[in-house]
Amino acid sequence: MIPSAFDYSTPANLDEVLKLLAEDGDNSKVLAGGHSLIPAMRLRLAQPEKIIDIQALRPQLSYIKEEGDIIKIGAMTTYYEIESSDLLKEKAPILPEAASVIGDVQVRNWGTVGGSMVHADPSSDLPSVMLALDAEMVLKSAKGERVEPASTFFAGILQTTIEPDELLTEIRFKTPTGKKSSYKKLPNKASHYSVVGAAAVVGVADGKITDAAVGFSGLAEIPMRFDELEKNLVGVSTDEASIEKACQGFASGVDALEDLHGSQEYRRAMAEVFAKRAILAALSK
Ligand SMILES: Cc1cc2nc3c(=O)[nH]c(=O)nc-3n(C[C@H](O)[C@H](O)[C@H](O)COP(=O)(O)OP(=O)(O)OC[C@H]3O[C@@H](n4cnc5c(N)ncnc54)[C@H](O)[C@@H]3O)c2cc1C
Repeated sequence: MIPSAFDYSTPANLDEVLKLLAEDGDNSKVLAGGHSLIPAMRLRLAQPEKIIDIQALRPQLSYIKEEGDIIKIGAMTTYYEIESSDLLKEKAPILPEAASVIGDVQVRNWGTVGGSMVHADPSSDLPSVMLALDAEMVLKSAKGERVEPASTFFAGILQTTIEPDELLTEIRFKTPTGKKSSYKKLPNKASHYSVVGAAAVVGVADGKITDAAVGFSGLAEIPMRFDELEKNLVGVSTDEASIEKACQGFASGVDALEDLHGSQEYRRAMAEVFAKRAILAALSK
């Protein structure tokens, strides 16, 4: 399929990108890795009048660093860079683990963490991981900067609270020191998108779970966490039977997605299964 006609610009720096977004953000789309936007344009699901190609920002917005106890990841950082980051392998290993099961090598070489957040496909993997890490989105516009938690950033299928004149520049979160974590997913056999995925970040002391954050991909319209599950897990012993019991029932009332890859009932059941698997995998590390 051939996209509809569009103007194409290649701004040289962040100020120029923000200026273009301020001028006509409503009719523009930023092009990062292009692995969601270009297919959507070819299918004419997206028909932007203007494409703002932000490749020139790669040197500035591709980074993974720790400042104090905060890990900061530039929005143009690719999945491959996350997957192969020694800093993340040591300090937040759930991210390399999750990035390594995204799509294929080409997708991981081009797809960016910022594109994944803003595209907000419910079946994407990293949004639920960022939710479990209590991450924040740093959004810049010509007017200034604002910071929004992942917990309010995702608004619906392919929808976030980003404003038309804003660029996501960074995702940051507190280093999960001392936490155990793992991401497990049931992948779509063709695309590897998650039918259901679970991102578990847990604290453990004296053989019991002290705190738990579990984010879910693919289950509902937005990445989700469940108070009931996270409360149930506190104080639970780390053996399989106890974890399985704590993971039962939390998803029963969820308005789950339903498509050719799985019914609502199937996704609810898989959410419980993959929550258990992710928590047990985290505890085994
Ligand atoms: C075959 C295939 C398999 C895939 N499998 C998986 C998978 O298993 N798991 C998974 O999670 N994903 C998967 N993906 C999707 C992939 O992760 C995309 O790369 C990602 O969703 C979008 O990132 P991108 O950098 O390519 O963004 P783009 O396609 O360039 O942009 C996507 C959207 O985000 C906006 N955008 C991008 N960056 C910014 C920014 N910094 N600020 C503001 N807006 C921005 C764009 O305007 C556009 O609306 C797959 C894609 C393909 C083609």
